[in-house]
Amino acid sequence: MGGMSALAGQGAYTVAVRALCEFTAKTGDLDLRFTPSPTAQEGIAGHALVTSRRDEDYETEIPLSGDFGPLHVRGRADGYDRRANRLEEIKTYRGDLKKMPDNQRQLHWAQVKIYGHLLCESQGLGQVHLALVYFDIGSQKETVMHEEHTAPALRAYFEQQCGRFLQWAQKEMAHREARDTQLKAMRFPHADFRPGQRQLAEAMYKASNRGVCLLAQAPTGIGKTVGSLFPMLKASAEHGVDKVFFLAAKTSGRQMALDAVDIIREGAPLLPLRTLELAAKSTACVNPDKACHGESCPLAKGFYDRLPAARQSALDLMLPPAADSAPAPASFLALDRETLRAVALAHDVCPYYLGSEMARWCDIVIGDYNYYFDISAMLHSLTQLNDWKVNVLVDEAHNMVSRARKMYSAEMEHASLRMLRKTVPEELKKPLDRVHRQWNQLEKDQSSEYQCYATLPEKFMGALQTAATAISDYMADHPSHVDADLQNFYFEALMFARLAESFGDHALFDIEKSEGARASHSNSVLCIRNIVPAPFLKPRFESTHTTALFSATLSPWNYFGDMLGMPDTTAWVDVESPFVAEQLAVRVAGHISTRYQHRQQSLRPIAALMGQQYQRQRGNYLAFFSSFDYMEKAANQFAEAYPDVPVWRQSRRMDEAERAQFLARFTLESEGIGFAVLGGSFGEGVDLPGARLIGAFVATLGLPQINPVNEQIRQRMEAIFGAGYDYTYTYPGLQKVVQAAGRVIRTQSDRGTVYLIDDRFGRPEIQQLMPAWWRIESASPT
Ligand code: SF4
Repeated sequence: MGGMSALAGQGAYTVAVRALCEFTAKTGDLDLRFTPSPTAQEGIAGHALVTSRRDEDYETEIPLSGDFGPLHVRGRADGYDRRANRLEEIKTYRGDLKKMPDNQRQLHWAQVKIYGHLLCESQGLGQVHLALVYFDIGSQKETVMHEEHTAPALRAYFEQQCGRFLQWAQKEMAHREARDTQLKAMRFPHADFRPGQRQLAEAMYKASNRGVCLLAQAPTGIGKTVGSLFPMLKASAEHGVDKVFFLAAKTSGRQMALDAVDIIREGAPLLPLRTLELAAKSTACVNPDKACHGESCPLAKGFYDRLPAARQSALDLMLPPAADSAPAPASFLALDRETLRAVALAHDVCPYYLGSEMARWCDIVIGDYNYYFDISAMLHSLTQLNDWKVNVLVDEAHNMVSRARKMYSAEMEHASLRMLRKTVPEELKKPLDRVHRQWNQLEKDQSSEYQCYATLPEKFMGALQTAATAISDYMADHPSHVDADLQNFYFEALMFARLAESFGDHALFDIEKSEGARASHSNSVLCIRNIVPAPFLKPRFESTHTTALFSATLSPWNYFGDMLGMPDTTAWVDVESPFVAEQLAVRVAGHISTRYQHRQQSLRPIAALMGQQYQRQRGNYLAFFSSFDYMEKAANQFAEAYPDVPVWRQSRRMDEAERAQFLARFTLESEGIGFAVLGGSFGEGVDLPGARLIGAFVATLGLPQINPVNEQIRQRMEAIFGAGYDYTYTYPGLQKVVQAAGRVIRTQSDRGTVYLIDDRFGRPEIQQLMPAWWRIESASPT
């Protein structure tokens, strides 16, 4: 919410006008019906259109600021007409303005009044006309509401709002000061750094010192989480950083971050460090059958009225013990998802939105990548709104390319629209029919099954936009009508429209046709497919003080730099492995080809190789294949040849319990071979130290399948980076191989064997992509 970064040391607390008003002037229900649209671009265009209608000397984006005791309030007013002495706040919207909740209107008035005061102060005005200009994106009409205020009245309002916030801000300042003083004085929590850990920690600290991004390749087993979080926290205290975001690809990564916070706090029991874990909305939501507004969900009703008490309870839970009350009481907690949920429910507020609120007040926020990187990322919006200085850590960052692509892609299926048309209310039939007709036309115009297009279909997009507006209006008119299919279609359509605004070289638009349920109905999927997330992510990196991405496999650097849009100043470090070549025998079985056309012939020699290795050294192994089909055939062949060796197979769509069961078979005493698919649940993020895993067989280069989509990607990669094949196939594939082989050596006392099964593993350009500490030999055919 506020920050002291800009004025640290001067005892001031800076707060944005909007954030101040949200704290002091927001009451009533949570209601997001007016927020999903208009799109960002529509909003900007709407503002521009309104200001273009004003006189030539109309001033826009006027920076204003003022102080109240230690509070420094600042922001930009939308527009000022000097001649008419009129200050305007412009808000764009869609739908029926009468439906805009009253508390939202009050919030807008609060903002414009604060700006009014700041303007009167800066210009020495005795009075000012204030105007809220609501611009309807659909009709392009303005509805203007006026109020006339004197400077003393506005001053009184400003002082009243600031007064309400001041006590809170003073506590925040005290918290911040205690936090930073203690962090600066802290020593590394482990008695000694583990090998590699110091190098990683130093790189993190230096990156923050220089205010640059960092790509850190750091092997498993060096204590990466503590080794990155601790230096980042210390650096944040030194460099006036407001918050650290720890972003993970999976829930297990979030837990590791929470554990790391515990380790750090063990060494500093009095450290006031507020830690929050954000869960996905789908898991945090208590009423999944409801919509997020007071007329539907009881936890949204009166949300802002109960929020202050909930917020205070949550903060109290995280208070460190007083210096004389050793040992630390059990109430000194992190706000993990269970704790957050319990606090929220105790106060009858929504846990998910309480989480968004607490992100403003916590020092470490742990969540999924999407909270900072996706198109409407909450942590990013808060950072912008509050002008926070943040340090961001991205765990297991090799996942970023595929995850970010998904964040900026959208697809729609014709069959879903067909179903929806049967059940939608009468007034939506027409706009959806138009989309349907345009869609039919696209299918008719396309003769092949798959086609990629250079531009987006204009008429279709127009119809989709109109339908989205109609649905939005309908939902505003019928707040208690909750239809999950309609809502899904609406969100898909909005996402499509938003991605269409920025469509370019970084994305493909394609249509894939297939036979529908009835022969007369062909089905098709339309997809805006992001393939280079760089243009979206680059500004996100740039709006942090430092972002450090770390993983055991971040090679080659140029691939990640190009795909993710790392700024030119990005530093990188390849942390020396604590492991030595003697720990791992890496053998290339160059006499076998796992290419699609050779798979049948490969089954027998693969089984023989595995059997011989097993007989040489009995114990637990994992064997990885490119597909379930290949895996099944290889497992059958092996089981037939070696019926005495226990075989465990990964199955399709295993749930969490089944996955845990599969891994539980790998004990210190067990012996057998687990058959799995490369790039699946067991190829990474699995920790089986010591005798729980003594070897792996990797019977694939992990190359993505050659299909029309990947071939399009290859062509585009060639055009943009001049490295089509490597960027599409080789690098993503080999990364999976190295990740999978990395399951074998987890600690410095582990010993093991990895077989890389395919002649292509013998090529120098492929071997270059493998960890430097591996000594690769060839396995002779038997
Ligand atoms: S509980 Fe669910 S439906 Fe209710 S406000 Fe929260 S997220 Fe929305």
